[in-house]
Amino acid sequence: MDYKKLFETEIRTDLIKKRRSEGKKVLGMVCCHVPFELLHAAGISPIRLRATGKKDMGAADPYFVPQSCDFAKTIYQNLCDGVYELDGLVSSDGCDVPVQIASAWKRHLEGIGREEFIYDVSAPRVITDASQGYFKYELEDLRDALEEFSGNKITDEKLKHSIELYNEARRLVRQVYDLHLEDDPVITGEDTLKITLAATELPIEEYIELLKAFLEDAKNFEPQGKGRVRVMLVGSSLDDPSFIKLIEDCGCLVVCDLNSFGIRFLGEPMDYDENDPLGSLAKHYLGRASCPRMMDGSDRIHEYIIDTAAEFQVDGVIIERLKHCEKWQNEAFVIGDLLKSNNIQYIEVERQQPLVGPAQIELRVEAFKEMLETLKES
Ligand code: SF4
Repeated sequence: MDYKKLFETEIRTDLIKKRRSEGKKVLGMVCCHVPFELLHAAGISPIRLRATGKKDMGAADPYFVPQSCDFAKTIYQNLCDGVYELDGLVSSDGCDVPVQIASAWKRHLEGIGREEFIYDVSAPRVITDASQGYFKYELEDLRDALEEFSGNKITDEKLKHSIELYNEARRLVRQVYDLHLEDDPVITGEDTLKITLAATELPIEEYIELLKAFLEDAKNFEPQGKGRVRVMLVGSSLDDPSFIKLIEDCGCLVVCDLNSFGIRFLGEPMDYDENDPLGSLAKHYLGRASCPRMMDGSDRIHEYIIDTAAEFQVDGVIIERLKHCEKWQNEAFVIGDLLKSNNIQYIEVERQQPLVGPAQIELRVEAFKEMLETLKES
């Protein structure tokens, strides 16, 4: 099976158009706190929106304050430029910035007299029994709205089937990351991000088959990481493989990450209660250590970083944050202390999307790599 399409990085505009022309409803997902399984069980194609592509922000600028992150603005611009032609959006309040995407798009549609399915999900920012109960209610309301929109009933059986499918994809993505456990991995961090990005658009059934074919072939691949320092990448939503390529061209190898488009996107396989799949989804999606939006989430993020850095035997950590990303700006500060107290070397770099001033970042990464190499030799 040809799995090359796993490594395409451009947004699959034509694939989305084709699916709609075949009568399939396609909804865009802003952020990653709404269960893909719920849309899949309704027979709807979920697309997680990305900020990929070089953009003139003409349409986005009026709707976003100047200090907004490029990630959210570029997604909105992609909608305005027709990179995404969808039946609507399901938005979750990852942080305050992407929330504006759905509201701005709604105003845009009103302005041109067009209607689409626009739905906002409010995901709690703390984890308690009450907040999980509340999030389940939110998902029940979304389920009802999706049933009305699609004309399809979302039964528990369908939901369990969708959970099983996404769990299989999660297990396979984990196997891709496990390739990085080798001293000389056969896959780069850049290609690994391309593989997880493919899950944002490809039908999950096809994605699973492509991953299986890739993993079968990977048994015969040549090592990629000979002698390179091993780093973990932590930070803002990163859907731009060229940023990882830049780091790896400096002589590092990105072997693991805490990135909402990386392994944290699909996350670990979820256990679910046969009698309450929706409640189980609420618990899983709320409980993942994905980003610092959670008021009580730092401990889970910190534990994940330290455990993962040890498991993948990293030599250092690169904290990357998007310009104007307050969430990661604050968290980066705390993570820096955490890494120091665990004697883990790290650097913090600010980036823009698309990449601006790569030479400056290269200089810093190269210096970091050389320092790690010296420490390894000593
Ligand atoms: S968390 Fe940061 S990168 Fe993500 S949308 Fe908010 S500001 Fe942008």
